[in-house]
Amino acid sequence: MAKKKNRLGQLPPRYIFAINPHQDLRCSKCPKCERATYLRKFPLLIHIDQMGPLVLGKTCRYCSKCEFIIAHQDELENTLAALLTECMPTAIGNEYLVLATVEKKAWKQRLEQAGGIEEILPYTSDIKTHAEIEYEPAHWGFAGES
Ligand SMILES: [Zn+2]
Repeated sequence: MAKKKNRLGQLPPRYIFAINPHQDLRCSKCPKCERATYLRKFPLLIHIDQMGPLVLGKTCRYCSKCEFIIAHQDELENTLAALLTECMPTAIGNEYLVLATVEKKAWKQRLEQAGGIEEILPYTSDIKTHAEIEYEPAHWGFAGES
C-alpha cells in the first residue's frame, strides 16, 4: 500500500518559501521572475526543536505572480526570539523549520481565543516548495601581494 505523504495543513500546499541569509540582499526583486516584490505579512507555522509548532506573524517579501515568499533570516530569528522570550526562553537558538502558512483570519481568531495548534490546521497550507536564495556578493578588489 502506498504511504500517504505526511501533511500538516488541511488546505492544499501553497507558496514557494525561501529564507534569505544574506543581510546585504533585501530581495526587492523576485529571484524567479525579476518583478518587484512587496511587503506582506504572513502567519508562518514554524516547528521549533524541543518545543513544537508555533505560529508567527512575519512581514515578508512577496511576489504574487510566483507566490514566492522570502523571509530575511535575521528578521525572522529576531521576531522568533522576541516571542520565545515570553513563552519559552529555553527554546531560543534551537533548530527551526518553516512548515506552512496559516490563513490570516484564522490566525487572528486564534490569537484572541488562545486555542490549540490543531484548531488552525484546517486553515493551514503546507509550503509547496522550499527554495534557496542564490546570491553572488560583490568582491573586494585584490591588488596583489606585497
Ligand atoms: Zn516572481
